[in-house]
Amino acid sequence: MSGMRDRVAALLSAHDPATTGRLEFLRARFDAGLAWVHFPVGLGGLGAPRDAQQEVDLALAEAGAPDNSPRRIGIGLGMAAPTILAHGTEEQRLRFLRPLWTGEEVWCQLFSEPGAGSDLAALGTRARRDGDDWVVTGQKVWTSSAHNAQWAILLARTDPDVPKHAGITYFVCDMTAPGVEVRPLRQITGEAEFNEVFLTGVRVPDAHRIGEVGAGWRIAQTTLMNERVAIGGRPVPREGGMVGVVADTWRAHPERRTPELHDRLLSLWVESEALRLAGIRLRQQLAAGSPGPEGSAMKLGFARLSQALSALEVEFLAEDGLRYDDWTQRRPTAVDFTARDAGYRYLRAKGNSIEGGTSEVLRNIIAERVLGLPTEPRSDKDIPWKDLPR
Ligand SMILES: Cc1cc2nc3c(=O)[nH]c(=O)nc-3n(C[C@H](O)[C@H](O)[C@H](O)COP(=O)(O)OP(=O)(O)OC[C@H]3O[C@@H](n4cnc5c(N)ncnc54)[C@H](O)[C@@H]3O)c2cc1C
Repeated sequence: MSGMRDRVAALLSAHDPATTGRLEFLRARFDAGLAWVHFPVGLGGLGAPRDAQQEVDLALAEAGAPDNSPRRIGIGLGMAAPTILAHGTEEQRLRFLRPLWTGEEVWCQLFSEPGAGSDLAALGTRARRDGDDWVVTGQKVWTSSAHNAQWAILLARTDPDVPKHAGITYFVCDMTAPGVEVRPLRQITGEAEFNEVFLTGVRVPDAHRIGEVGAGWRIAQTTLMNERVAIGGRPVPREGGMVGVVADTWRAHPERRTPELHDRLLSLWVESEALRLAGIRLRQQLAAGSPGPEGSAMKLGFARLSQALSALEVEFLAEDGLRYDDWTQRRPTAVDFTARDAGYRYLRAKGNSIEGGTSEVLRNIIAERVLGLPTEPRSDKDIPWKDLPR
């Protein structure tokens, strides 16, 4: 690790954060391989173990260096980047990864459709080849950050004549291209964090195809596995995240405490700590390869605890907990549980068991791929997509 400390020191001495512009510093950090140290040299990393990252982040934060606002660019960092790294061409990696990491280009995820959420492979957005381009038409839904995004990872159907999993191709779509229309969708919080996206004759160059034609489903697994780790498995300090916020509320209001609420808080505190420690183990496993179904277990646990803790906080605060009046961020650029009030946390946490795969679907994945239980009956596996009832 001393090599890592030397590299951090060299970056700081060549680019003093006190006198260097934010973007200039972030670009220099990327070029020094200190962006995501487990990425390859030349792509923002050093090919180092993933767990060296925390030390780098801490040292740079202590030196007053700017960060890349990871919450604002979460989809790019957590989903697009690992997919482009694993399946993109060298040209695509060089084009997309640096501005993605510095936050110059925000990404969104055009996967879900009105008729294809849990059953994502049923998606109907069509991409037809036309010369060097693909022409894409269809509708996507629940697209977080589409209103801020320059780029999207996109799944589209390129062959309707084969079974649903086989006819999908993975693309990068320019969100500023003609034919892309983004409309806000309002959530239970009152905010519009996500959108409907209508694609009408959008031209996507073949050079922006990720992987082989028809290989989209396999490539999407990389995105989805990483998404679950990004939502449920990110490093948190002891008593960090939702449990820390609720514990602070508890400490601030001794007059509201009851033995029953005390027991419930302690029990959720213990579970949060167990999940945090499981997350450390998961990230150690990740050092050896791509995330597997363990990420689904982390995301499942995260969603359950997030909802149970935020509900306990509202109950603890009684009528004050119900007074959610922070409707100011109508078009948020990031989700941040810590900087908002209890009512917001309670309402927003409802989405945690839906986004990135519902808890029911994650239980199916764990049952089948971790516990080895029999698979769900799937009668549509061998039928061409165009013949499926819709
Ligand atoms: C806050 C938020 C942000 C999101 N951001 C994005 C985004 O940026 N990009 C994107 O593409 N999508 C996004 N989504 C969409 C999300 O991935 C889908 O909502 C999710 O996959 C569920 O799909 P659905 O809404 O169509 O529900 P459905 O699939 O219709 O499910 C309805 C219900 O049936 C249950 N169910 C379905 N199938 C099974 C089964 N086989 N066994 C047991 N139960 C089942 C589900 O668990 C659920 O309770 C977001 C969602 C939320 C809430």
